[in-house]
Amino acid sequence: MAGFKQYPYAYIRGEIVPFEEATVSVATNALHYGGGVFGGIKGVQTKEGLAIFRLDDHIARLAKSCRILRFPYEVDADKVEQVIRELVQKNKPTGTTYIRPLIYRSDTALSPAIEGDYDLAIYMLDMPNYFDPEKGTRVMVSSWQRNADNAIPPRTKATGGYINSALAIHEANMRGFDSAIMLDAHGNVSEGAVMNVFLVRDGVLVTPSADSSILEGITRRTVLELAEKWKLKVQERPVSRSELYLADELFFCGTAANISWCPQVDDVTFGDKPGNVTQRFIDAFEKLPETHPELFTVYR
Ligand code: PMP
Repeated sequence: MAGFKQYPYAYIRGEIVPFEEATVSVATNALHYGGGVFGGIKGVQTKEGLAIFRLDDHIARLAKSCRILRFPYEVDADKVEQVIRELVQKNKPTGTTYIRPLIYRSDTALSPAIEGDYDLAIYMLDMPNYFDPEKGTRVMVSSWQRNADNAIPPRTKATGGYINSALAIHEANMRGFDSAIMLDAHGNVSEGAVMNVFLVRDGVLVTPSADSSILEGITRRTVLELAEKWKLKVQERPVSRSELYLADELFFCGTAANISWCPQVDDVTFGDKPGNVTQRFIDAFEKLPETHPELFTVYR
C-alpha cells in the first residue's frame, strides 16, 4: 500500500501521538518473528461523517486471530472503537479511508515463543482505489501454494502469513499480472493474495468454502448475504482450478479490493467489462451506506 497518504495521528502504547512518533525498536519481537495480527477496515464519506464498514466484525476478527494464535492479549472492543473514534476526530479524514489496527508482540526477547508483551497500534490512510476499477484485476494462478491451516492458519490475519501473499504478488507482477489466485494444499482454489474470489458459472455464484485455506473475508460474508437476499443460487464448496477457466464471470472482494472484476486468469479472458452479476455487486456495494446503514458505524 505504499503511496497512500497516512493521516497525521496514530495510536501506539496506549496513546494517540503524531504519526512520526508511532515507531518501534529495531529489536521488536514481532519484526523478527512475525508475531502480529492486523485488520483492514474501510470508512467512506457520507453526509453524517465517516461511515465505517462492519467495524464490530473487524474487531471480532482481530480477537479471533489472537485466540487462534494463542496471543496472551485480550481485545477490548470498546477501547478499539473509542480509539478509532478519537483518531477520526483528530485526523479529520476527507476521502475513502483505510484503518489499520495491529496487535503485535512488542517486547524485545530473542525468541519466537508466544508469551510476551503485546501492544495495540492503529493508524489511518487515505485510500481511493487499490485496484483500477476500469481495467479490472488480471491474475495468474500462482505457483506458490496458500498457507495451510495447520501451518500458518490463513483464517487469522497474521502478519507473518503475508510472506505467502508477497511471494504470489511478486511472481504475478514479474509476469505482467496485477495479482494472483492461490491454490490450497489439495490443489483447489483458495483465494487471491489479498482478497477472496467468486465465480459465476451457469448463473450460480460459487466461492471456495471456509475450509479452503481462506481468510474468512468480511466483504465475502457481505456478498453472500446480499446473494441470499437476492435469491441467487450460491455454492460454498471446494473449487477446482479448471473451473476458473470455465467461469462466465470472475470477481474478487475485499476491504481494499472492493468488488474488483477479473478480465483474465492466466491466458483465459472474460471480456472487457464486468459481467452482469459482478456489476450488480459493484453497484450494490457502492450504495451500501444508503441501503444498509446498519452495517456502518459513523464517526465525525
Ligand atoms: N483474503 C486475504 C488474504 C486478505 O488479506 C483479505 C483482506 N483483508 C481478504 C481475503 C478479504 O477480507 P475482507 O473482506 O475482510 O477485507
